[in-house]
Amino acid sequence: MGPFLLVTLYVAVMLLPLALAWSGARPARSVWDELATGAGMLAFAIILAEFVLSGRFRAVSKKIGMDVTMRFHQLVARSALGLALIHPFLYASDFSRAQPGDPTRALTVTYDLASLSTGILGWLLLPAFVLISIGRDKLDYTYETWRMMHGLGAVLIAALLMHHTLSAGRYSADPLIAGVWWCLFAIAVSSLLFVYVVRPMWQTRRPWTVAAIRPVASRTWEVEIEPDGHEGIRYEAGQFAWLNIGNSPFSLHENPFSISSAPASGKSLQFVIKELGDFTRTLGRIPVGTRAYIDAPHGNLIVMGQPGKKIALIAGGVGIAPLLSILRELRLSGDGRPTLLIYGNRQADQIVAREELDAMTLECGTRVVHVVGEPEPDWTGATGIIDRALLETTFAGETMADWLVVMCGPGAMMEAAEDTLIEMGVPASQILSERFDYD
Ligand SMILES: Cc1cc2nc3c(=O)[nH]c(=O)nc-3n(C[C@H](O)[C@H](O)[C@H](O)COP(=O)(O)OP(=O)(O)OC[C@H]3O[C@@H](n4cnc5c(N)ncnc54)[C@H](O)[C@@H]3O)c2cc1C
Repeated sequence: MGPFLLVTLYVAVMLLPLALAWSGARPARSVWDELATGAGMLAFAIILAEFVLSGRFRAVSKKIGMDVTMRFHQLVARSALGLALIHPFLYASDFSRAQPGDPTRALTVTYDLASLSTGILGWLLLPAFVLISIGRDKLDYTYETWRMMHGLGAVLIAALLMHHTLSAGRYSADPLIAGVWWCLFAIAVSSLLFVYVVRPMWQTRRPWTVAAIRPVASRTWEVEIEPDGHEGIRYEAGQFAWLNIGNSPFSLHENPFSISSAPASGKSLQFVIKELGDFTRTLGRIPVGTRAYIDAPHGNLIVMGQPGKKIALIAGGVGIAPLLSILRELRLSGDGRPTLLIYGNRQADQIVAREELDAMTLECGTRVVHVVGEPEPDWTGATGIIDRALLETTFAGETMADWLVVMCGPGAMMEAAEDTLIEMGVPASQILSERFDYD
């Protein structure tokens, strides 16, 4: 299913309850009442779809990319919050008790406390939930604790709103519309069960073993895992895995890392990982032979099949990981397209795979431009950051429409580079990017 079909499906599902409500013959109400109900219904449909847009489903993230999936998840969460917040204030009718002879709740806005209380509780919890998600970095929780709270909180809010929708909603008195809500609710809850129960059960039958962990640059490690009793995975260069080393597959201790090895190099997978927090700082102490589990492949940073006569890769720091995979695959598969790597680091001792990149220059003609922000006196390469001046110098004399550009690194670097490259003539559709800090 292509991105266009995915978006069409999303819009269709979001509008389905509203369309069914609109199509049924019911006594007319005021426009404000209809707007109020419509806002609530749309908000609830968006909230239920958020479970599937969590970034854990390959069918979604491989089509539209992890960044777009997560940005979309965040954006529509805010929209749902806005709709949910205005929902009770739009009603123009007096709230009144159900009228005798009005079993379909066609003419009343319910005043029944049991039906309203779950709505009110969900309405109060939702802003807190969204605010905690936006300000997560400032809270003193581990990422795993936050993930657990996010998952359980989402189920609680969905269950409260489900009760409110079914018991208070004018249109949910229609069995067809109630059935649609039950389907959407079941899909939402099952998606969570799939990620945290079904997939881990499958992972227990496909374990991996840590084959090597070696330092490759300052505070940066290369981790290699090999399949234990199975054939490994099929993936494409540039994709990433959720990696869990040394924990039960049912634990929440798993982190996303780009695969840095090439699919053509065999069944083992390599990762280039920079020390950052709780898990990554323990890498140097993990013994070879430790059991590992992965959920992979995810992501769409994939150059194979993309347009562009030449390939430019722009990496900032550990953003080199997926780009290494792509360069390695291009080398092993004998892809003859000219390649250029612009690789920025703060210090020269953070450069990963320097000799291998030199070998690629000799063997495949890959042009490598190292950029160092804080160079030692003996540094002879480019200095500073990957900015407009550097891009203009590097691409001087080039026909920019020929280039497919793949970027991975800090968000600010990628946004600036992307704007500059588009202004220089690279079609936006020929720029692929992935961020490591999507939340
Ligand atoms: C698609 C993708 C690919 C990535 N590829 C690489 C890579 O190849 N090499 C590399 O060094 N880093 C990569 N990262 C970043 C890496 O996931 C985090 O640095 C790592 O998870 C930090 O974990 P920690 O427990 O050491 O740090 P913590 O202190 O627990 O977390 C530090 C920060 O890392 C992020 N993070 C932590 N756990 C998770 C998680 N389970 N899911 C999402 N984000 C999390 C959060 O923003 C958190 O605030 C990638 C991130 C993404 C989203």
